[in-house]
Amino acid sequence: MEKINIAVDGFSSCGKSTIAKGLAKELGYTYIDSGAMYRAIALFAYRNGWMTDTDINEAELQQHVSEIEISFKANAQGQQVTYLNGENVEKEIRSLEIGNMASRVSTLGFVRRELVRQQQAMGKRKGVVMDGRDIGTVVFPDAELKIFLTASPQVRAQRRFDELQAKGIAVSYEDTLANVRERDERDTTRAESPLRKAEDAIELDNSRITIDEQLQWAIDMFNKITKKNE
Ligand code: C5P
Repeated sequence: MEKINIAVDGFSSCGKSTIAKGLAKELGYTYIDSGAMYRAIALFAYRNGWMTDTDINEAELQQHVSEIEISFKANAQGQQVTYLNGENVEKEIRSLEIGNMASRVSTLGFVRRELVRQQQAMGKRKGVVMDGRDIGTVVFPDAELKIFLTASPQVRAQRRFDELQAKGIAVSYEDTLANVRERDERDTTRAESPLRKAEDAIELDNSRITIDEQLQWAIDMFNKITKKNE
């Protein structure tokens, strides 16, 4: 069967990576976490002193953005790990602070153009499941299957909080909820590629379904679409 590309978009912490990873495993496709790429750029800018909690030195970042090489490799457990210029940065990019900075660098047009270029190259040979905010609208507008996930801010904050706790990262639920709301606001109102559902995307609110039910739903959608294209 010919491979397709699958776009999974939605708000932060609504389980995009769970459904995208599950689908990729089930289908033998490559999973790509586009958010990790924005996080890696934020970490790069922060380490170079071009980004603080309040400011970004856009001129410096723009001058050096082409020096940033982001790649993914599987670790011994088969989990995907993010590399920034050859260094494993997986743990560092997952903090709330870097997530917040990623949401700010992702508003910059030159950052988006560079990453979209790299993401489109990764999907050229098809067989990719990519999650993010603009995958169905900008990165793969021709993706055969587009999924748009939603869940309430409270459900998403609880999931993110549990995830951070499990990783030993100390945060409060209130701060996590505030962070979810702040990122929603920025993701939907930014001028460059704001988060929105592609017209041909299929929406799923996963607030009240299990991970297994969600994956089964996605597999059913995949089967329906690939059958139609045969
Ligand atoms: O998905 P994740 O939370 O890791 O993404 C980090 C940030 O990068 C998000 O807050 C979002 O603003 C941004 N992002 C984006 N476009 C994407 C993926 C992520 O703007 N395709």
